[in-house]
Amino acid sequence: MTHLSLLKPTGHLTLGNHLGALRPMREQAVDDVCFYGVADLHALTVAHDPARLRILVREMTTLLLAVGLEPATLFVQSHVPAHSELAYLLECTAHTGELNRMIQFKEKGRSNPATRASLYTYPVLMAADILLYRAARVPVGDDQRQHVELTRDLALRFNREYGEVFTVPEIVTPAAGARVMDLQYPTTKMGKSHENGAGIVYLLDPPDVVRRKVARAVTDSDTGPDAVRRDRATKPGVTNLVDILEACGGSAEGITSYGALKAAVTDAVVDELAPVQRRYAELAADPGRVDSVFAAGAARCREVTAPVLEAARIAIGLG
Ligand code: AMP
Repeated sequence: MTHLSLLKPTGHLTLGNHLGALRPMREQAVDDVCFYGVADLHALTVAHDPARLRILVREMTTLLLAVGLEPATLFVQSHVPAHSELAYLLECTAHTGELNRMIQFKEKGRSNPATRASLYTYPVLMAADILLYRAARVPVGDDQRQHVELTRDLALRFNREYGEVFTVPEIVTPAAGARVMDLQYPTTKMGKSHENGAGIVYLLDPPDVVRRKVARAVTDSDTGPDAVRRDRATKPGVTNLVDILEACGGSAEGITSYGALKAAVTDAVVDELAPVQRRYAELAADPGRVDSVFAAGAARCREVTAPVLEAARIAIGLG
């Protein structure tokens, strides 16, 4: 089975990305054919700084290698021009009516006349990302479900109007991975684009920074022997710390104070991140190695996607 996953380089990767996405991706890459990409084109849909984007892409490519995703085909989206080429053909298949209905555009851009046109069309680029690799099943969280439904609609319409070119992907619910919450706002997800980084542990945070962030994590005023327990509704901060501890291989068994819990979480997170940071440092000193892995990945992607793009071009009347 083919898996495709793209990560948007709009911020530094977090512990949430690691436990919720990168670790499961690493496991998947052992058994399945996986294409993992850095979605640099998608990072251009909102105001951006070219120099920062370059830095974030470099950091992300290095980190994907550092966490051990190399059994997969690793690539940078813009190095595979088929993504933007197919996106245009699909824009000629999509209707403005359906793009107007995209919730993310409605919420994030429609009311602002300076919104980039690419924010309006990015669900079509996402459809191209998926359809190029003939992914049969696409695991998506709720926030992306509408976009994958659009992908299906576009594939079905294209196939009906111009001939059977695309595999219509089935939408599947992702296996429940760890969901890491912000240490300061434990009812919201730890996200790389969050404005205030005090509750976010980044993959490259050194141990003393991890310690400080965890030490300041929001808990509650419970005391007593059973204060350390999971209860997402009434104890979101403590629940999150216990979840992180277990996801990093530790256990809250026998821990009764928040101080001890935080110390255990710090140790477990530092241990989880140490090998990634060690490998990152080695790779950062050898950027040619990262470049060659990603060059080979892009070459493989160009090879795999060429027949799909060519079939679409011919079907629509360009060849
Ligand atoms: P994002 O950083 O939101 O673009 O997400 C990239 C990937 O990381 C997606 O697969 C997300 O589901 C996953 N992810 C992001 N933040 C978290 C989090 N706090 N906990 C678990 N998974 C996350």
